[in-house]
Amino acid sequence: MLEGYKKETLCIQSGWKPVNGQPRVLPIVQSTTFKYDSSEQMGRLFDLEESGYFYTRLQNPTNDYVAQKICDLEGGAAAMLTSSGQAANYYAIFNICQAGDHMILSATVYGGTFNLITVTMKKMGIDCTIVDPDAPEEELAAAFKDNTKCVLAETIANPALVVLDIEKFARQAHAHGVPLIIDNTFPTPINCNPFAWGADIITHSTTKYMDGHAMSVGGAIVDSGNFDWESQADKFPGLTTPDDSYHGITYTQKFGKAAYITKATAQLMRDLGSIQSPQNAFLLNVGLETLSLRMERHCYNALRVAEYLESHEKIAWVNYPGLKSSRYYELAQKYMPKGTCGVISFGLKTGRNGARDVMDKLKLAAIVTHVADARTCVLHPASHTHRQMSDDQLTKAGVAPDLIRFSVGLEHIDDIIADLMQALC
Ligand SMILES: *Cc1c(COP(=O)(O)O)cnc(C)c1O
Repeated sequence: MLEGYKKETLCIQSGWKPVNGQPRVLPIVQSTTFKYDSSEQMGRLFDLEESGYFYTRLQNPTNDYVAQKICDLEGGAAAMLTSSGQAANYYAIFNICQAGDHMILSATVYGGTFNLITVTMKKMGIDCTIVDPDAPEEELAAAFKDNTKCVLAETIANPALVVLDIEKFARQAHAHGVPLIIDNTFPTPINCNPFAWGADIITHSTTKYMDGHAMSVGGAIVDSGNFDWESQADKFPGLTTPDDSYHGITYTQKFGKAAYITKATAQLMRDLGSIQSPQNAFLLNVGLETLSLRMERHCYNALRVAEYLESHEKIAWVNYPGLKSSRYYELAQKYMPKGTCGVISFGLKTGRNGARDVMDKLKLAAIVTHVADARTCVLHPASHTHRQMSDDQLTKAGVAPDLIRFSVGLEHIDDIIADLMQALC
């Protein structure tokens, strides 16, 4: 940890800190395995008696330096990288939930997360109650059951752009003795630190702004170290009772604030193996170095585009939490005073068919299944990412059938607006 430094500095300096004679730039440790001189030492590594690398399916130094940087940016206690954002959310939940357990999910989460939890994890025996992120506190409270183990929501929902009342969710999670997991992909730690508002665990799809150049798929999990697992020992036996697969280690006793991440690495990475490749971690680190600069420009450009669209006679509605007209403006100002994200959504007066026409006329903004990178891109969720959802599910997820998701890139703002202008005329 680089104490006291600002985020701009952490983006550059945190993680890999070379000592005398070492490479200035983070090395890629392109090795599946690591050599030891005594078999006894290797044995101690396997028992988690000693820390050290032995096989890249579990841990790799390149990954760990990058995870450390993300951990510092979020103000966490421990972190790990995963091969994708999907793997990050899966591990974050599965680390503390098992068959027979229950969790609470915000209705507006990313479609991939929604499917992961309501389809695949349901088959694994983990039940879930879906709640409206804007629900009054009593309604939220009523969703908890005796076997509820966690709550998951997004700081800014993709693509609904609902800004979460993090404190409301944290209050209810803690009142019921469970942690709040926040997917902080859209604002990134540059614009929001959910730990400061009561979140316990943060996940990221690093594929988005953190990488920032659409180069590699990846994810991260950060633990604040604040949730007191011991005080809810009967709810979280995986953390608070001996792990037979590691010679009877009890994670909370042996690893303290790193218990949750150590368990996710030692058990889930060992058994499921969704490790990020060291090559991708290296690229992610390059992206992280400019994250603060890029977020500032993404937010500046997005606000200009949102204001332009709001004033256009062919546009029916614009949703961007940075706009004064947004119902989430106040919440966004409180949690993200520097800006929210570069993604906006809007609908045309000509509806669903009009959306298709405008998208086909755009020249600079490309139609791609991606958001949050340097290049402006556009997507129609109802016909692309969310096409498996019914109209009713779409509406509940905050995705209107006419919604165009516009991810504002880093090109000059005049060129982005000119592209929209010609497509809309
Ligand atoms: C993209 C995304 C994910 C999934 O991440 P992948 O890296 O594509 O697996 C999860 N959450 C949010 C908010 C996302 O935008």
